[in-house]
Amino acid sequence: MTPSVATVHSLIPLSLLEAIRNLDTPLDDGLNELANETVSKRLGLSATVGQQIERYRDDALRKLPVSLDEAVSVFRLVGRRPDATLVYSDAGRRAARHAAQAAGIGTKVLLGVTPRPFRRRFGARTASQVARRLLALDLDVSRGAPRVRLGESLATLAGFPGTGCYFYSAVFAELLRVASGFEGAMVHERCHAKGDDHCFWRAAEAGGYE
Ligand SMILES: [Zn+2]
Repeated sequence: MTPSVATVHSLIPLSLLEAIRNLDTPLDDGLNELANETVSKRLGLSATVGQQIERYRDDALRKLPVSLDEAVSVFRLVGRRPDATLVYSDAGRRAARHAAQAAGIGTKVLLGVTPRPFRRRFGARTASQVARRLLALDLDVSRGAPRVRLGESLATLAGFPGTGCYFYSAVFAELLRVASGFEGAMVHERCHAKGDDHCFWRAAEAGGYE
């Protein structure tokens, strides 16, 4: 994310609110009736969040961005929760899938048809294009394992570096998975939260990237 870009794709706040709702939805474990009173107080199940999700969904379809300030405030909503890392990870995966779907990839990827090394390289480039076009994020796939360097991010702007970085780890891993069949994780090697002047991720696949 470049600081000069003052808008964010609606699919990012959409994904964050969907993740909040998802994590606040009780499992159907037979205890729901007992828990009803507590459940109704959960933010993710409120009418307000439901309406916002619909609004962002419409905006995302119409390619209407939201302001950076608004995206930061939604991002901050998650950071205060005790289950923030779970919500950010869930939101990141959702954002990647929304972006892939909006870009028309996912269903037409030739998984299992093209040779694996080709699929990896071709898919990683596709993931990079989607990240740049829809998420304004720079996924570098020019050499070796895909990598990402972020000076500023929604996580730092919201005041939750480290915790908020789970969102980005999940976005990139899921984008690579959908586009190239990647099975692994984005290792967060450097982070603002650890005193580094930027955040840095490198894709690590089980068994090595090549
Ligand atoms: Zn970080």
